[in-house]
Amino acid sequence: MQKNQGLFRTIKSLYSFVQRTFDASFTTHFYVFCLFVGLVLRLDHPIMMRLPKTMFHQISDLLPIPFFLNKNLFLRALIFKIRMDDMITNDILFQQALQLLQQLIATPSFSKEENATAEIIKTFLEKHGVKTHRKLNNIWAYNRFFDPAKPTILLNSHHDTVKPNSGYTRDPYDAVMEDGKLFGLGSNDAGGCLVSLIAVFLHYYDQSALKYNFCLATTAEEEISGNNGLELIVPELGKLDFAIVGEPTQMQLAIAERGLMVLDCTAFGRAGHAAREEGDNAIYKAIKDIEWFRTYRFAKESEVFGPVKMSVTIIQAGSQHNVVPATCTFTVDVRVTDAYRNKEVLEMIREQVNCEVKPRSIRLKPSSIPKDHPIVQAGIALGRTTYGSPTTSDQSLLDIPSVKSGPGDSARSHMADEFIYVDEIKEGIGLYIKMLDQLVK
Ligand SMILES: [Zn+2]
Repeated sequence: MQKNQGLFRTIKSLYSFVQRTFDASFTTHFYVFCLFVGLVLRLDHPIMMRLPKTMFHQISDLLPIPFFLNKNLFLRALIFKIRMDDMITNDILFQQALQLLQQLIATPSFSKEENATAEIIKTFLEKHGVKTHRKLNNIWAYNRFFDPAKPTILLNSHHDTVKPNSGYTRDPYDAVMEDGKLFGLGSNDAGGCLVSLIAVFLHYYDQSALKYNFCLATTAEEEISGNNGLELIVPELGKLDFAIVGEPTQMQLAIAERGLMVLDCTAFGRAGHAAREEGDNAIYKAIKDIEWFRTYRFAKESEVFGPVKMSVTIIQAGSQHNVVPATCTFTVDVRVTDAYRNKEVLEMIREQVNCEVKPRSIRLKPSSIPKDHPIVQAGIALGRTTYGSPTTSDQSLLDIPSVKSGPGDSARSHMADEFIYVDEIKEGIGLYIKMLDQLVK
């Protein structure tokens, strides 16, 4: 068996080449030819005796009659086909994912301007026989054998990018491959993750006896935490049980993410002349509250992140030296951990300070997934490490447990001459599938 591995690989790459280069009918003929080669060279395997009978039908249209007259020949052809299928489909999926990514890189897709990439993704999925749904620039789809009685896994990543910064020495839209790297804006954040999750979705799309459903959501406006991205379609996706959010983590598992609230605070006093005993100084009032923000400790601490972190980052008051200011405004950056919900923290703050507190937004929620969740355990079993992520992603818009994981490196995101290693994508697809197989099979 071992000695045939090299030959098997050669046939496999030849097949990929034929598949890429020629039309479907030629590819089918070549496929049958490969089966013959496999038979002649006896590329068989002992597990063939354990195969379910239903699989026999799958190749009946491909094999010439004589095969059916000899059970051994038939079985050998069958096992060869299955091995070919397995290796070839995964390789084809990877090649197609790579081509899709190149197409996406070549198409500008700044946040709020993702119309063209949404169209590319939709066309790609439909070419694979997938029925898609679209709302603005978000595209989503379900596996073929979707069963409402089963739990559903959300596979999510984004196709918008930031604008290229001035440090670029390359054309950000030239999806060129060099030394195993694929360059281009959005290649790493989050193109590699996005196309890998699409490949994973297609891998499971046609499988009928899975324990879970899959919902694939490729979304917009992630880079600006916009309202018309994942948040817009979550209510339409149906019941979801947990999510894998694709962001570059080198395929490690971010099991918690801090939430973010920005608070605009105003302390009110009364104006007066500084020379007389007039007015009520708003700065002095603000100081008390600022001191509270500096020193207060929330009782519950997150296992991953420790305490909720509050920082006063902007302060403004006064117009001229001899006027006691009537108002003092300041801004607080609050990083909420998974020990609290944003609303709870906001209420606690309001109870304890005197100034007026206006949150700019409370929708970027802290998120987490229990370490004993099956998907996390599946990742750990594959040698993945878990950590708490300092950055926020679309996870903050989800109310279900979610894990952030994907090929690529977060350190390369938003950098000039962004790139992803082609092998990272290949490994990513393989790892996602190995992880999910442990749950869905
Ligand atoms: Zn991203």
